[in-house]
Amino acid sequence: MLDRSNELTAWDRDHFFHPSTHMGMHARGESPTRVIAGGEGVWITDTSGRKSLDAFAGLYCVNVGYGRTEIADAIGEQARELAYYHAYVGHGTEASITLAKMIIDRAPEGMSRVYFGLSGSDANETNIKLIWYYNNVLGRPEKKKIISRWRGYHGSGVMTGSLTGLELFHNAFDLPRAPILHTEAPYYFRRSDRSMSEEQFSQHCADKLEEMILAEGPDTVAAFIGEPILGTGGIVPPPAGYWQKIQAVLKKYDVLLVADEVVTGFGRLGTMFGSDHYRMQPDLITIAKGLTSAYAPLSGVIVSDRVWQVLVQGSDQLGALGHGWTYSAHPICAAAGVANLELIDTLDLVTNAGETGAYFRKALADAVGSHANVGDVRGDGLMAAVEFVEDRDDRQFFDPSRKIGPQVAAALLERGVIGRAMPQGDILGFAPPLCLTREEADIVVEHTADAVKHVFASL
Ligand code: PLP
Repeated sequence: MLDRSNELTAWDRDHFFHPSTHMGMHARGESPTRVIAGGEGVWITDTSGRKSLDAFAGLYCVNVGYGRTEIADAIGEQARELAYYHAYVGHGTEASITLAKMIIDRAPEGMSRVYFGLSGSDANETNIKLIWYYNNVLGRPEKKKIISRWRGYHGSGVMTGSLTGLELFHNAFDLPRAPILHTEAPYYFRRSDRSMSEEQFSQHCADKLEEMILAEGPDTVAAFIGEPILGTGGIVPPPAGYWQKIQAVLKKYDVLLVADEVVTGFGRLGTMFGSDHYRMQPDLITIAKGLTSAYAPLSGVIVSDRVWQVLVQGSDQLGALGHGWTYSAHPICAAAGVANLELIDTLDLVTNAGETGAYFRKALADAVGSHANVGDVRGDGLMAAVEFVEDRDDRQFFDPSRKIGPQVAAALLERGVIGRAMPQGDILGFAPPLCLTREEADIVVEHTADAVKHVFASL
């Protein structure tokens, strides 16, 4: 095949406005362009023929791995049969109806309906609107504030970027907007009081939340949103007892719980949902990524029976719901979703995520955990992170301008493995496809240890 790399690189620099990219450096050619051409299993290949083991599954989304013909065939068949029809005013397709049923069959107890969108961000926008609508129907127009956590990630729209608790997503965008508030991040490793046990820290987080609800007025606080395990904020599992203590506060003040399972939904933690894993009882669940393993863009809001009953009451009072996207429940994306969920079952990928995940995390901790600049190795299921520190005993963090995390990720890439330098803190993250084998996990661990050694030896 003709090598068009140079031409594509030039067009890319001149015409392509990339998301989450340093615009100036990219346009000037100071940062690398990589044109990805193919993928198989956990491997991707670029146009120069270079292969990398993708230990972040794209953006923790290609859960079944690359190159699955079952999903490609389902997409092709759906496109030939019926590429599009909308889902407004009660319309559906075999694929979208089947997928809704498959999701509810797999969802935690008490879930009733699925509203389909296209991205995690738009699904969380839907959540916000449904929460406001819910409280208006219940005659509580003041109960509208939504509490998120610092370091939470919930998207990058206007409201969802506000829910996100990371500086990069707020800076110069005039975010966050009211009525979004942020409370303590459940980040035990970075807690300020080092004498606290994990349980005490969880209680501290619950107390902070309660203080905020009381200061704002419980009649004004509608919902709390959280990822079962912090993802983009640093891949941080909740401290012991966290969700139990938080949920007790939410119940006390009649505040809805939104579990953002865009990353954890459909198996990543070794259970179908993170809510099952940490015994959360959400009122709304956000899903995306693993729903189609990113073979097509599709997201959803899973609505509990409790919320659904009020929404029904709302349409009986107000008429049809004034909320919908042209591409809600797009048949091609839904067909991808059906084939993807079938594949997850057939290949028993949820079990593999739990088992290979435990193997991978232990091997990673054994390989780098005692390095003088590794402060923490953590994770759950097939999510893992290594956090780097300048001084282990004093838990001194590096000056962010030294870009230690990105340096380690770059050294790892040179060795043929993709990890992600998480955006806030020097944290190397992993979230490989759920089909990862132990042999592939060993490759990731071996090269990570080598990259870590190399970067700190040359500091
Ligand atoms: N919620 C969580 C937990 C996420 O990790 C992400 C994306 O990484 C989103 C929401 C936003 O999804 P999207 O990028 O599809 O809009």
